[in-house]
Amino acid sequence: MSKVVIIGAGGVGGVVAHKCAQLPAVFSDILLASRTEDKCKAIAADIEKMQGRTIRTARIDADNVTELAALLRAEKPALVINVALPYQDLSIMDACLEAGVDYLDTANYEPLETAKFEYKWQWAYREKFEKAGLMALLGSGFDPGATNVFTAWIAKHYFDEIHTLDIIDVNGGNHGYPFATNFNPEINIREVTAECRHWENDEFVTTPPMSMKMSFTCPEGVGTYNIYRMYHEELESLVVNFPTLKRAQFWMSFGDNYLKHLEVLGNVGMTGIEPVEFQGQKIVPIQFLRALLPDPASLGPRTVGKTCIGCVVTGIKDGREKTVYVYQIKDHQDCYREVASQAISYTTGVPAMIGAKMMLEGKWKRPGVWNMEQMDPDPFMDDLNKYGLPWAVIEDYRLS
Ligand code: NDP
Repeated sequence: MSKVVIIGAGGVGGVVAHKCAQLPAVFSDILLASRTEDKCKAIAADIEKMQGRTIRTARIDADNVTELAALLRAEKPALVINVALPYQDLSIMDACLEAGVDYLDTANYEPLETAKFEYKWQWAYREKFEKAGLMALLGSGFDPGATNVFTAWIAKHYFDEIHTLDIIDVNGGNHGYPFATNFNPEINIREVTAECRHWENDEFVTTPPMSMKMSFTCPEGVGTYNIYRMYHEELESLVVNFPTLKRAQFWMSFGDNYLKHLEVLGNVGMTGIEPVEFQGQKIVPIQFLRALLPDPASLGPRTVGKTCIGCVVTGIKDGREKTVYVYQIKDHQDCYREVASQAISYTTGVPAMIGAKMMLEGKWKRPGVWNMEQMDPDPFMDDLNKYGLPWAVIEDYRLS
């Protein structure tokens, strides 16, 4: 029986709150706190209706360490689940240290003024968390998150040594808008317009954004999509924790329409993160664009189709080379019926709930700052099957 504070009432925060509410034996008391309390209240009302449970809400500015530490000292939760934005990671970790509370997030820290996401800032907290006897679990979403656990599980059960990793994220969903993003537009656009980096022969190699493309056919009839190589944060920790990897790449599907809009928006400067002067006011173009685009949390009722996210790993077992593919397929409308959300927020929120459950049940409990692949993958993989994200394995898979 544990109290948790969930910070962030966006698309992902809503799913985490619904999923935690479904497990009162683990999450006995839930406080959903965010910058705009009305959004917390709307989620709480849905949870009352759909899950039959009451959760509490609060307003918090998570950039303000003093304010947040005071809330945590008053609430005394066992854990903070951070599903606000990557900009808040360090202030929330600081507040957790001040109040003596464990920490979990789904995305690594990113400074507001530089589109550069790296673990170095959060890894620098290792000693502080160890000394305080507290745990911080980083990247407990789907990618990063479930993909790190898939890699660890494949390495543990199928190989003596792993050599290549291809993480493939396909969203075969359609929301019917000419252009919208499935999670926070600002974070999403910063990510996909960044230079591509992949791991090859002991170093990260940089290539222009979207310069490498291939066609990928998903299993179970989900369809064939163009996937593009891009940088994704889990590569950074996975190549450290699996030093036998000779190559590691991340691929994501994008439709031609999405890419055309992005190209035009980029060409006219709408994806810029530097403030511009407009009628006596400073405006950050990407933040203005975010205000114009549909709220990802509103896409649930109109998104149809499926996601298919997984890891293809090659390596050696008993001297023989082999390839194993582990994947998860999720239907957008199934998610909407269960927790009033589309599948992108769902596939992020469920692993966040499971990571929290692992920590609260003591299955994953170690002082320090950890990435997901450093924990035993087995109980997490079992819970993915139990709580809405069943997965499958294909042995001797061929990635075309
Ligand atoms: P949203 O923009 O929908 O929600 C973010 C929420 O955080 C909003 O409710 C926002 O408040 C709140 N917030 C922002 N700043 C503050 C602050 N200073 N103090 C308190 N609350 C704040 O984003 P998503 O739900 O789509 O994404 C949430 C997180 O999940 C992001 O970090 C994203 O990168 C991550 N993510 C991870 C994935 C994975 O697989 N690992 C996949 C998808 C997302 P307000 O309502 O006032 O704006």
